[in-house]
Amino acid sequence: MSERWYKEAVIYCLDVETFQDSNGDGCGDLPGLISRLDYLSRLGVTCLWLNPIYPSPRRDAGYDISDYYAIDPRFGSLGDFAELALEARERGIRILLDLVVNHTSDQHPWFQSARRDAGSPYRGWYVWSESEPADRRQGIVFPGEQRETWTYDDEAKAWYFHRFYDFQPDLDWENRAVREEIKKVMGFWLQLGASGFRVDAAPFVLEMTKPDDDNPPHDFAILDDWRQDLQWRKGDAVLLLEANVEPGDLPSYVAGRPDGPNDRAHMLFNFLLNPRLWLALARQDAEPVVDGLKTAPRLAAMAQWATFLRNHDELDLSRLTKEQQADVFRAFAPKPDMRIYDRGIRRRLAPMLGGDRRRMELAYSLQFTMPGTPVLRYGEEIGMGEDLSLPDRDAIRTPMQWERGATAGFSDADPADLVQPVRTRGRYGSASVNVLDQQDDGDSLLSWFERLIRRLRDCPEIGVGTCTVLDVPLPRPVLAHRFDAPEGSVLFLHNLADTSVTLDLGRQDGADTVVEVFADGGYELPTLRLTGLELHDYGYRWFRLRRGRGD
Ligand code: MG
Repeated sequence: MSERWYKEAVIYCLDVETFQDSNGDGCGDLPGLISRLDYLSRLGVTCLWLNPIYPSPRRDAGYDISDYYAIDPRFGSLGDFAELALEARERGIRILLDLVVNHTSDQHPWFQSARRDAGSPYRGWYVWSESEPADRRQGIVFPGEQRETWTYDDEAKAWYFHRFYDFQPDLDWENRAVREEIKKVMGFWLQLGASGFRVDAAPFVLEMTKPDDDNPPHDFAILDDWRQDLQWRKGDAVLLLEANVEPGDLPSYVAGRPDGPNDRAHMLFNFLLNPRLWLALARQDAEPVVDGLKTAPRLAAMAQWATFLRNHDELDLSRLTKEQQADVFRAFAPKPDMRIYDRGIRRRLAPMLGGDRRRMELAYSLQFTMPGTPVLRYGEEIGMGEDLSLPDRDAIRTPMQWERGATAGFSDADPADLVQPVRTRGRYGSASVNVLDQQDDGDSLLSWFERLIRRLRDCPEIGVGTCTVLDVPLPRPVLAHRFDAPEGSVLFLHNLADTSVTLDLGRQDGADTVVEVFADGGYELPTLRLTGLELHDYGYRWFRLRRGRGD
């Protein structure tokens, strides 16, 4: 595989807990995941991002870790992980692990030792205040669920800082011992076969927390150090950062110097584009996407965006104006119980789009042709729905629906004993939406996803090329963009509206031959002048532009 494998990857995000149970205890596990690798390989996935697999009280879906050097015993053993890494690699699939190091669980032995004894070597691994911090109700991440960021601990007789929930005390990243320990954690998992990390809450890790500091400095030396260490230990390992920060701040997460080489994280989730994609779909207007593409900060060469429509969290709309948010809520989350934290949506894509297959294809064609590497959440490829009867973000964390039946093939356990309830009935239940039924149906959404990913492989320009929005007059709902790379050029059309249109794009540079490679349905073949191009309602068309007259 090439050194830039991450630029041509398809990343699939899953939670081991809800993917496949192998031993009938009702909880997904690593052997279960191994048994589904052929499925993932057939889908075209080249990289798995596993949500946390470490021992954890799981009060925050595993993002509260109590041991960084082990596997949650319900999921299996370290041996099972090494086996997974090997089996995955044999299928050309790499593994990224969630690295959650802004905080630990309050059950972690480090914190237990720190709170018990002021003389503990771990006391200084956390952030303490002897007096009540004046700012302890500032900087809340989960409004409505979290009331403060400093909590008094009776045992420690001091206040400890927690950016997230009170059971997630923040590590003190000013402490050198913490930095050295986390590098050991990373080295440990690389040795076992991981190909890198998805770094949770990265800006908060870099933020040097000080009481009464409204605008604390960020120490990017942490990223420099990680990158150096990573490349020394495993040359092709990568860092994918969760950093939902201001656009102007993003380039610093991938490069130490403006216009310098990519010497920090390899990849950043594109949190700027995500809400704009949803706004564009809601308004049936391409402008928010055009704006997102044109205003995206330029990243260092070799650095890469990771694109997504839905992930394991709420769909976060906080980067939109109130008016824009209202449009997205009205279109895709009309009821209050579909919303969360005053800023987001706790639904999956299929029900958000009313189960409209044409619109689902359009949305994913749009995502997969945005600059960057696409990330797909498990179950989206078959059009799973959410379960709003479950609390908070659990609504979108129900077990994978492999087949019909009470446990959907997820487990042999009694349905009442599953780690999360399976949706069986209704439009998105396992009786209607499951892998087995879709696998043998060439018209299914799953089969469409397989074709989409195959076509994506034929268009490496998306991962590595330069993206341009076509400068021609177009109806508002239409996006026309192209990528140019030494490999060649590709051009994409998307119609966000429910009415068909006919377009004239004019002669395009480098287009001596135009070949249609992917589309939502039968169209007349394009002419060289790209005039009279039809685009169905919610239609999409992918073209390859070739120099020279044919083959
Ligand atoms: Mg199990």
